[in-house]
Amino acid sequence: MHMNRRHAHWAASLLIALTLLSNTPAHSEPCMTITLTGTQGGPPVYKGQAGAGTLVQYGDSDNACNDIALQFDAGRGTTQRLSELNVPVGKLAAIFVTHMHSDHTEGLIDLMQLRWHFNSQGPKVDFVVSEDKLSPAGHTLSGRSFADHIGATMIQSGEMAQRLAENKQRLPGGPTDLMNVMTFEPMEKPDTVWSSGDVTVDAINSNHIPGHASYRVNTPAGSVVIGGDAGNDKPSPPRGASTSAQVELLAKGADVIVHSTIHPVMGPDKDSGFPAPIYYRQSTATDLGAMAEKVGAGYLMLTHLIPPLNAIKQGPYPIPGGALSSTDYEDAVSLSGYTGNTIVGTDLVSLTLPEQ
Ligand SMILES: [Zn+2]
Repeated sequence: MHMNRRHAHWAASLLIALTLLSNTPAHSEPCMTITLTGTQGGPPVYKGQAGAGTLVQYGDSDNACNDIALQFDAGRGTTQRLSELNVPVGKLAAIFVTHMHSDHTEGLIDLMQLRWHFNSQGPKVDFVVSEDKLSPAGHTLSGRSFADHIGATMIQSGEMAQRLAENKQRLPGGPTDLMNVMTFEPMEKPDTVWSSGDVTVDAINSNHIPGHASYRVNTPAGSVVIGGDAGNDKPSPPRGASTSAQVELLAKGADVIVHSTIHPVMGPDKDSGFPAPIYYRQSTATDLGAMAEKVGAGYLMLTHLIPPLNAIKQGPYPIPGGALSSTDYEDAVSLSGYTGNTIVGTDLVSLTLPEQ
């Protein structure tokens, strides 16, 4: 048969389609996708970067790993990032908070307000957080109180009453009524704090501020540790490493570690002016590489980067030697001898297990 160019092209396309079909597994496979919804380190804002947060989705290859969606921390702009992923806030089954610092929680306020507007018929979202913790300074860190007052400004301004008058289907207490608060005592060993179907979430006590906890999601497709802002229990040198021994325990055999990091360039010996106690309560990129190597994690996803990529300042503090690139963070990890894959976080970077 004579084939003109158009026919040849059509035949090639058919061949490709048949090849793809023959490679499609007969059964759907479990899979997990980890997406950084925000990578900003600390309260500053830089170039539209969202505040710290990680979305973990689990499902199978037939539904793009999207049976269940779990959010870990929700800094500024989380709702916007979820909308870019086409994940409605009503889809989140549970929200886990590592600690009550505002850069990890402030995005929850508008996220829950939005859920109240359009998902008042439920279901409630599980809100998983440490029990109240008294700080040495005498105040209490309280995720429960945060949930109880999450709609406070909108109640006080009359906005909530206005919306209720417009639609009586909404819950009278505001977004608080949509939160199923599940507090736990952070332990020194991994302890299961949440589960649904094939997915379990363990937590462990870790040091940063009182009530800080780190999490591990276990699924048939793999496991991921969300370290949060954890640092060593010993708040300053001399010490073995800046990383947390408890996070290391939690991460044993995990596939992925997502962790806040600080670059050694912000250290007190480098004259950035960055406060030493704040530097010491984070984990350095180099020490995280060493920890990831020790526990055998195939991937280290750096987030909550201090300083942000390409920024000449971290908030008011200048970066000694100028702005950092992702290579500077990779180099800091490489110093540890880490042999896995380092992903220097940017908003919406994602990883799917098993590898596609
Ligand atoms: Zn923090």
